[in-house]
Amino acid sequence: MNTWLGYLVYFGGFFVLILLRAPHEKVSKATPIRENRMGFLERLLFASVGIGMLFFPILTASSNWLVEFDHSIPIWALITGTSVLAYSLWLFHRSHVDLGRNWSPTLQVREGHTLVSHGVYQSIRHPMYTAIFLFSIGQLIVLPNWISGIAGFVGFGLMFVLRVSSEEKMMRDQFGAQYLAYSQRTKRIVPGIW
Ligand code: SAH
Repeated sequence: MNTWLGYLVYFGGFFVLILLRAPHEKVSKATPIRENRMGFLERLLFASVGIGMLFFPILTASSNWLVEFDHSIPIWALITGTSVLAYSLWLFHRSHVDLGRNWSPTLQVREGHTLVSHGVYQSIRHPMYTAIFLFSIGQLIVLPNWISGIAGFVGFGLMFVLRVSSEEKMMRDQFGAQYLAYSQRTKRIVPGIW
């Protein structure tokens, strides 16, 4: 039974994630783009996140593929994983609210872009990425298959590693000394650590 509960919790969480993002997608589409640094690599990275967070979970939930990697989820793990997912969704929501019109799903600078350094951006520069990492840790804890469990972390990890320096460079080019000062007093994804 915990097997199905695990998938239910995960896909439920994913559905909430989509719902939370939907209004911001709308605002983002209505906000003019000043600079676009989305290249071919970015598109590939979107695919890697989709494969890790949706393709593998759907595959193992709906077929016998990778059945040798199935395992059972104890109730304490289900509760812990659900809490991690819930916290990650809260952080995901807060980072969208704090970024407001400055948010883009990819590397873009908007008309009237301002540097956000308040709210969840106060101590880390990438709270939205922290939220997605936490979500992928929740995925690993609640999904009853090792491959689809780890797939989100690998898929998003790849995106993070290949995107974060270009994003910070884009912000430096845009905000100069203001971003450098902000970088000096903040960490990337874990407050006080890294
Ligand atoms: N990396 C951030 C934001 C992800 S959304 C996070 O994890 O929370 C990506 C877009 O947000 C980028 O294209 C950039 O235009 C914008 N952005 C990133 N950091 C920002 C900041 N501190 N202030 C304003 N815009 C920012």
